[in-house]
Amino acid sequence: MAPTDVIYLDIAAVVIMAVTLMSMFFRHITKGPANRVYIVAMLLVLITAILCLAGELCDIYLYNLAQDGDATAPPEPNALRDTITVIYYTLRSLTAPAYFILIATISGTTHLLNRSMAIRIAMWIPMLAVVAFILTNPLHHLVYTYEAGAIVQGPLKHVLYFVAAYYAVTGIVWLIHWRIVLSSDEFATLMMLYPLIFVSVFVQHTFPNLHIEMFITSIAMMLVAAFVIRPELNQDTHMKTASLRSYRDMCHRAYATEKPTCLAYLEIVNMEQLQELVGKDELANIISRVSENISRHLQNDDTLFYLRSGQFCIAPRKNDYERALAIAWKAHEEGKAAASRQADRASVPRMRTCIVRIPEDAPDIQTLNAFVRRFSHLVPESTVTTFEELSKKDGFRMAMALSDIVEGAIRNRTFMVYYQPIYCLHDGRFHSAEALVRLKDPELGWVSPSLFIPEAEQNGSIVAIGEILLQKICRFLGSIDYAATGLDYVEVNLSVEQCVRPQMAGELIALMEDYDVAPEHINLEVTETSSTYSQEAIDANIRTLAARGLTFSIDDYGTGYSNTARVLELPFNLVKIDKSFVDEMENPDTRTVLADTIAMMKAIGKSVLIEGVETQEQVDALAAMGADYIQGYFFARPLPEDEFEPFLREHNRMNR
Ligand code: C2E
Ligand code: CA
Ligand code: CA
Repeated sequence: MAPTDVIYLDIAAVVIMAVTLMSMFFRHITKGPANRVYIVAMLLVLITAILCLAGELCDIYLYNLAQDGDATAPPEPNALRDTITVIYYTLRSLTAPAYFILIATISGTTHLLNRSMAIRIAMWIPMLAVVAFILTNPLHHLVYTYEAGAIVQGPLKHVLYFVAAYYAVTGIVWLIHWRIVLSSDEFATLMMLYPLIFVSVFVQHTFPNLHIEMFITSIAMMLVAAFVIRPELNQDTHMKTASLRSYRDMCHRAYATEKPTCLAYLEIVNMEQLQELVGKDELANIISRVSENISRHLQNDDTLFYLRSGQFCIAPRKNDYERALAIAWKAHEEGKAAASRQADRASVPRMRTCIVRIPEDAPDIQTLNAFVRRFSHLVPESTVTTFEELSKKDGFRMAMALSDIVEGAIRNRTFMVYYQPIYCLHDGRFHSAEALVRLKDPELGWVSPSLFIPEAEQNGSIVAIGEILLQKICRFLGSIDYAATGLDYVEVNLSVEQCVRPQMAGELIALMEDYDVAPEHINLEVTETSSTYSQEAIDANIRTLAARGLTFSIDDYGTGYSNTARVLELPFNLVKIDKSFVDEMENPDTRTVLADTIAMMKAIGKSVLIEGVETQEQVDALAAMGADYIQGYFFARPLPEDEFEPFLREHNRMNR
């Protein structure tokens, strides 16, 4: 039988595989288990294809030799040809198990292969047996033999097909069983591998001169590279880490396949301060350097994911708690070492780090996600903690459930408003009150606004909460008998996130009209804000509402971004001094600052209210300093609607 020209197809196969493989290296898609197994599988088929080609060239060479000597005499079996053939068959028979392992790795199910002895035997024995069978062919000639100088199938060649079919069927069953952890692209591409290869093997078997088997294999592998190994989806090209998407896939797979996993989460604590200090671009550089520093200390199959705004996750190669802890500590220290090149001490990133075990700590993906979402609230900074440790702390359950509780309260509009009466030092009456949100979870009890308001401000749900509260407050204020109660106005908290919305003023005015609330009955409390918010939008709202007749106060004065210029610039008539000053009143320096602040505000025509007053001594001292109003438990606690009016009627009558 003369060799044919179709070896060109094999040359094409080698070229396609080599180029695909090289592109993996050029595009740095070499990390992570799936990429590595793919590269090994690709190398395997590439070498097989090269051997196939070498065998064919060998045949041509031997054939020509035979022709040169005596055209009718067949060449003897040749040691080189024999070696090539044995290795070729061996590697070829490893391809089907390699596909299977590729599927298991891509679906993140390799851990299931080690579950029991039976699975291990079923996995390895057929492969080892067939390899031994091929390697011993020179002794038994059952796989292939020589006939008229050409290689022909031995009587037991079919064993090879059976074993390949065994792995193929197992692979298909595995693929179908775990399709939920694969994207439709991944599933379709991996699934298509098999019919393609079956057809090519069948064609090659039936028409031995049509060398398409390797060519089809190379195309199939290229498709896998194109549709399954997609770096743009799995890599954060900017951070040079695995992407958020691949993190989600990893978590999804870990739960779906019950793979015990240890994850280390790291977060840069001081993102905001860093940005204010060094600017957005330099902050991005700092984050990249944190990422580089962490990566440098990871081993090849440990994966580093960049999640979002300064948050990283490390999935160590093995599920080993001790090792994960060691990695977390190292990463924690390395992260902190990634200071800005501007060599400013304040621009050092600070880290918070925590280890979570799946499934012991977070039995389902909702728990894990809730934890990661509330990471900055739950995990203390500057150390490495574990979920297990944190879960023993009070309030952990509440903190974990917070998002759900708040979401539910928004959906069912179950937020309540309490009113804390404010005492006027000039006439000893309660002219005003502060409206304060209250939230009670049926299971976990009262949820402090100090807990959920900051988070709602961060994730934007404060707008929905504010809308519910304003509606309830306006409805209540529309029903009050101001003359009988002696109430002048109610102070309503407005978060900056609400104030920057251009439509805020219009919506509030519409609400007040709906419930017949006169503008002078509402005073809006605003806090001093960082410069990251649009000052123009806030000012526009304040001016619109002030023009309508609403008044404003500055809340928590002396705690945030103090900006006396804004106190002068905008129409505030009341300054609320934060409770922290009262708490520190024992300190003579604090007393001096307090007295001077009150005097200064009075000098520019503002009224002064002191918050958090709990004792008679504090009241007396503050009265002596010239404060106008006192808000605190000493006079009154925040009261529900139905107790608030009776309180006013009683106390304002007594002192009339
Ligand atoms: P804030 O605006 O400074 O409210 C005053 C806080 O001090 C209230 O806490 C009040 O209950 C508490 N307080 C009043 N007198 C005393 C006292 O004598 N001793 C002590 N220890 N505390 C006193 P609350 O209600 O827990 O609110 C905490 C924070 O949550 C508020 O601080 C405010 O920033 C926010 N918040 C509360 N209600 C709302 C709301 O309706 N909207 C918005 N945006 N934020 C709110
Ligand atoms: Ca307030
Ligand atoms: Ca306050």
